[in-house]
Amino acid sequence: MVQTWHIGVDDTDSQNGMCTTYLATLIVDFLLKFPVKFLDFPKLIRLNPNIPYKTRGNGAVAITFSTTEEIDEKIWKGIVEIVEKNAEIKDPKTDPGLVFLQGEVPSGFHKLYHQALYRVVSLETVKQLLKKQPTEKHFYLKKGRGLIGAAAAVGATLVNDYTYEFIAYRDPNQKKSERLIDPTSVINADKNVPLTFNNYDYENKQIMITPHGPDPVFCGIRGESCNAVIRMWELIKIFEPIISTMIFRTNQHTQVHFPKIFLGHEISPYLSVTVKGIVEKKPRDHPGGHVIFTIRSENSLIDCAAYEPTKQFRKIIRELIEEDEVLVFGGVRPASEKNPITINLEEIQITKLTPIKQRITPKCPICRASLTSSGRNQGLKCKKCSYISTKKEFSYKQISRKIRTGVRYVIPVCAQRHLTKPVSRIVPLQFHLSPEIDIQQAFYAFLERRILFTTNTKNKK
Ligand code: ATP
Repeated sequence: MVQTWHIGVDDTDSQNGMCTTYLATLIVDFLLKFPVKFLDFPKLIRLNPNIPYKTRGNGAVAITFSTTEEIDEKIWKGIVEIVEKNAEIKDPKTDPGLVFLQGEVPSGFHKLYHQALYRVVSLETVKQLLKKQPTEKHFYLKKGRGLIGAAAAVGATLVNDYTYEFIAYRDPNQKKSERLIDPTSVINADKNVPLTFNNYDYENKQIMITPHGPDPVFCGIRGESCNAVIRMWELIKIFEPIISTMIFRTNQHTQVHFPKIFLGHEISPYLSVTVKGIVEKKPRDHPGGHVIFTIRSENSLIDCAAYEPTKQFRKIIRELIEEDEVLVFGGVRPASEKNPITINLEEIQITKLTPIKQRITPKCPICRASLTSSGRNQGLKCKKCSYISTKKEFSYKQISRKIRTGVRYVIPVCAQRHLTKPVSRIVPLQFHLSPEIDIQQAFYAFLERRILFTTNTKNKK
C-alpha cells in the first residue's frame, strides 16, 4: 500500500555552523537510497522573524514522500542519526526537533503553521498536538524547541503564493565568512534572469545571494520558478568548490507573516503585526541613525522605528507629518528600560496624507514687490514703494507631499526579512507550475541535472 510521509526538522544550527537546509539536503540524499517517491521539492518554511531564540532567519524544513515499502523504521532511524550526527548540539541555543508524520496532514498542523508565522507558540501546545496523532513519531534533543518549527513546517501550505530558492553548499567544515564570487557576474545574471529577485541591492551596492556566517551555505538564489533559479546559478562565476545543491519550494518573500490587522491594544512583544494608525508625533531622528515616530491606534500610542540598517527607507519616514493615516507592518520589540514597546518597521503604506498649506505673501499692486506686515492687528506695507494696505489677507497654496498614498514603501533589499515581499515581486502567479504533478516532475528534473551544478563540473563549462 502506498503511504505518504512528512518529515519536519528544525533548530539544528548555531551561529558557529550548520544550516537546517543543509541537514535537509543530507536527508534527501539519504532517502534517495530507498524506493521512495518525493511528492514535492523539500520545503523551506520561514516562521515568525521576531522569535527571540532564532539563530538567523527562523527557517524550518519539511520533506514529503511516498513509499509502498515497509521501510519506515529504517528510514526513521537513519534520519534520527543524521540529526544526531550533524546538529550543532554543543551550542546552548540549539534544540533540534524532528517530526515524522504519516498520511494526510491534520488541520491542527495547518493551524499551527499559520499561528507560527506571526506569533509565539509554546512548546507545550506543539507537544499536545503531536500526542493526538496516532501516526506520528518525533525525536528531539535537549529541550526540543525545534519541534515547534518542525511541526509548523509539516503544516505549511504553499498554495496561493510561493517562491523557490536554489542553495549551493560548500564543505561544512569551511568556516570563513567570505564567499569567493564574481560580483559582476551576479549583476549580469540578475539582469538576464528577471524571474529571480533580491540578487543584488542596487541602492546599497551589495550582493545579496551570499551569506556572511560560518555556515555551509555558499549562496542562495531566490526566484519565481525552479528554472529561473537554476539559470541564475549557471550564469554566475564562483571560485570555490561546491559539494552539493538543493532547490527548495518556500514561503519566502510572500508576506504571509502579516495575516491580519491588529488594534493598538492587541500588540504584544515578538508578534509580526500590521497596524492602522494616525501619526500622533512626527518622526524624530535618534542617535545611531534611527528614525522614530508615534502612531495612535484606537487609544494606544505606539512608537514605530525605522532603524539605521533600513537606510533610504528612513527618508520616506521623515516625510510623515502629524495626522497622516498609515498602515505599518513590522515586528514588535518589547519595551526596554529606555524605550517603550516599538514596531520595527518592514513596510509602510500611507492611506491618507494630511495637506500642508503654505501662506503666500501678497504682492504690491504697484511695484510687485512682496508686502510685509505693518505690525500686529495692522495691515500690510510695501517697503519698496511705501504702498499701504489696511487689510491683512493672505492666500494659501497646497504644498505637494513627497510621499504618496497607494504605494508600498518597503525597506531596502539589504534590510529585508526572508518573508518580506520585495516591491520587485509583482510577477503574476501564473508563472508557477500549478498542478501537483508538475511540481513533482520539476523536482525530479532538478535531481537528474543536479550533479552538473557542483563546482567542479560547473567550472569546466
Ligand atoms: P535558520 O538559521 O535555519 O534560518 P534559525 O536557525 O534562525 O533558522 P532556529 O535555530 O531554528 O532558527 O531557531 C528557531 C527556534 O524557534 C526553533 O526552535 C523553532 O522551533 C522555534 N520557533 C519557530 N517559530 C516559532 C514560533 N512562532 N513560536 C515559538 N517558537 C518558534
